[in-house]
Amino acid sequence: MNKRAFNFNAGPAAIPLEVLERAQAEFVDFQGTGMSIMEMSHRGAVYESVHDEAQKRLLGLLGAPVGYKVLFLTGGASTQFAMLPLNFLTEGKTAGYVRTGSWSDKAIAEARLIGETYIAASSEDDKFMSVPDLHQLQIPENAAYLHVTSNETIEGTQFKEFPDTGSTPLIVDMSSDILSRSLDVNRFDLIYAGAQKNLGPSGVTVVIAREELLQNSPKHIPTVLRYDTHFKNNSLYNTPPAFSIYMVNQVLKWIEEQGGLTGIEALNVKKADLLYQAIDQSSGFFRGCVAESSRSNMNVTFRLSSEDIEKKFIKESEQEGFVGLKGHRSVGGLRASIYNAVPYDTVKALVDFMAEFQRKNG
Ligand SMILES: *Cc1c(COP(=O)(O)O)cnc(C)c1O
Repeated sequence: MNKRAFNFNAGPAAIPLEVLERAQAEFVDFQGTGMSIMEMSHRGAVYESVHDEAQKRLLGLLGAPVGYKVLFLTGGASTQFAMLPLNFLTEGKTAGYVRTGSWSDKAIAEARLIGETYIAASSEDDKFMSVPDLHQLQIPENAAYLHVTSNETIEGTQFKEFPDTGSTPLIVDMSSDILSRSLDVNRFDLIYAGAQKNLGPSGVTVVIAREELLQNSPKHIPTVLRYDTHFKNNSLYNTPPAFSIYMVNQVLKWIEEQGGLTGIEALNVKKADLLYQAIDQSSGFFRGCVAESSRSNMNVTFRLSSEDIEKKFIKESEQEGFVGLKGHRSVGGLRASIYNAVPYDTVKALVDFMAEFQRKNG
């Protein structure tokens, strides 16, 4: 077997080895067609069955009730930042955004180009090192939707619960924690995520939404940016990112094999506990960045006592086969992204490396 890196990349990120190997086995000749899945028509029966299977698996894993639909779109979660207000933030309405850090702010900036917005809650006062309490939200009557970023990938925070928004649609960017834990889908009206963190390779963005939200886009916006175009055409209005969708289907199958969302959640909690305990029990040598109750189980951010020693940590970790431990350039420090596909043993190897590094430098 090839050597596998201890991969803590934030995105694109690790994909389960089993999935890569299965994809490799059917790469050149997909199901006896004499073609790769990348080489065939997206209107043919072979591709369409993969497309439909991926949608069904996703709804099945989420336990979504009847009335939810999956779209496969392109342009990343960043394109959703624009599509959401284009489709829903119509004249006379305002869109609520919860400010939690880097990604929420990008979503807000796009919405402001389109229409009126308000900040429903913010953790700016805490430098985004926690998530705001959403229990007492006042939602204006003319709110088009409330937008929440479930997991801030860069800061390393995560919501553990979600607000009840009544009749106002709750829209959640789950790019960095989708399918990492069980969820009551009924509480959400639209969920979206770029695939490259927890679902597979980059190239496809999934949208899971109540069907009624997807059926009536304003008539003046461009065809390809309308949810109703993709809804009516089962995400086959234009050529979909077929290989990425095929890979997502494989990852979904792998999640089913891990025991679905309850199985994967148990594993994720075990990995995150191991790493946070190593940080908390280092007598201050490593310091977690985020308030304990807001800590992300996907992106673990931490610091050392100086930037020099952080640089040393990163350099030596790379020499030992660890990848992606440098924090995002906008916040510095260290970050270990431990998405679904990062094995427990990889996290254990990091914890052992950290202990050894502290022994030599503490
Ligand atoms: C990575 C990320 C994005 C941006 O995704 P792209 O697919 O690169 O557009 C948006 N939101 C969150 C929470 C992310 O982690």
